[in-house]
Amino acid sequence: MILETFPVGPLQCNCTVLGDEATGEAIVIDPGDEITRIHNRLTALGLRLKQILITHAHIDHVGGALRLKRLTGAPILLNENDLPLLQMMGAQAAWLGVAPPETAPPDESLTDGQQVGLEAYPAQILHTPGHTQGSVCLHFIPLKMVIAGDTLFAGSIGRTDLPGGNFDQIIDSIEARLLPLPDDTKVIPGHGPATTIGAERRANPFLRNNAH
Ligand SMILES: [Zn+2]
Repeated sequence: MILETFPVGPLQCNCTVLGDEATGEAIVIDPGDEITRIHNRLTALGLRLKQILITHAHIDHVGGALRLKRLTGAPILLNENDLPLLQMMGAQAAWLGVAPPETAPPDESLTDGQQVGLEAYPAQILHTPGHTQGSVCLHFIPLKMVIAGDTLFAGSIGRTDLPGGNFDQIIDSIEARLLPLPDDTKVIPGHGPATTIGAERRANPFLRNNAH
């Protein structure tokens, strides 16, 4: 297994490359920026991209997806509830003071319970609205790993003050969908260091019902 997570772009979004040497297939999650670097890494590893998976349609997570699709032919998957945000890419770029990236509608929606990823390393989609309405987490059950986008961070949660954000909803999503996972489940957030479900259940100050 090849698993590499590295921050890309001015907001340092964690982009993840997961590959299977046996089949030569890979997926990329949240290619927000630095597409040449990501593509070069895939080439160096000899991996063929199968899917481009987007946790939500904020510019720092989705900004490079179309460029990566054009370089590799891989489809883009994004929950349909974030289409309004995708269509606001001009406004999102203006918030950051950067040029808007070209975008296109996703090839497929990511829906709750859907299985994506590689045959050897499948992921189940957890729809976790709150940071945005189309936010999803990817639960790689055999790997005991969650890619959480901007829903859950080490010691924090995603902001809910942008269009489509809802504080009560993100708390509900985390408590109903993420905290029930096993304590030793590794969490790779959309920004910052990795954590575990157990550590966040015990110590995340935003999770009100964490004292059992
Ligand atoms: Zn975000």
